[in-house]
Amino acid sequence: MTRRDELLAYAHTVKGFMPPHEGEALTNAGLAAGDVTPGGTWLEVGAWCGKSAVFLGAAAEETRSVLYSLDHHHGSEENQAGWEHFDATLVDSADGRLNTLPTWQRTIADAKLEETVIGLVGPSLVVARHFAQGLDLLFIDGGHGHDVAWMDYEAWTPKVVPGGTLLIHDVFENPADGGRPPYEIYCAARDSGRFGDVAAVGSLRVLRRL
Ligand code: SAH
Ligand code: MG
Repeated sequence: MTRRDELLAYAHTVKGFMPPHEGEALTNAGLAAGDVTPGGTWLEVGAWCGKSAVFLGAAAEETRSVLYSLDHHHGSEENQAGWEHFDATLVDSADGRLNTLPTWQRTIADAKLEETVIGLVGPSLVVARHFAQGLDLLFIDGGHGHDVAWMDYEAWTPKVVPGGTLLIHDVFENPADGGRPPYEIYCAARDSGRFGDVAAVGSLRVLRRL
């Protein structure tokens, strides 16, 4: 078994919301990005328990890139008690809030990706305002509410370098399939003339900075 196969097999077992074929599409998009620019700087907005970080991390390690995996680790609206994607095992009894950071750390340690996948713990907008490095790959999969999705779009997409890759998750054209903001920011990226379509796999969209 190659290291990549081993990491993919592991990624499929990690807790999260990334369907198998979309996870492997993340790896493939990462390998393509790392082929264009080896040793690149990548960032994902929305880390949760580290599932997408392992799919991307497999490609990052292979292409000597680094993936920043950003999250405040308290979950999005739909992860809170009473909502669709609530998981009581992730609640910190000290304050009753969700805390996915220990699980994320365990995932990255078990994958032996600690030198490739680097956690950034905090609110997306605060980090973005103090993050000047250009991005060779950006994966947007954070909050899916209108304001937070648009904030991620405005704050992070200008940092993608020409030729760089933009990935957006949970893009549902049909409102019956899911919330609209990820679809709206995908359309905005494409219609801005800054990004062109590369591929679509399930609800994952792959674009390239022109
Ligand atoms: N990419 C992950 C899933 C991410 S779920 C995977 O596929 O495995 C979305 C995450 O976005 C949640 O963990 C939530 O805590 C985080 N999030 C939502 N709004 C945020 C914000 N404003 N700043 C930082 N993280 C945020
Ligand atoms: Mg998602």
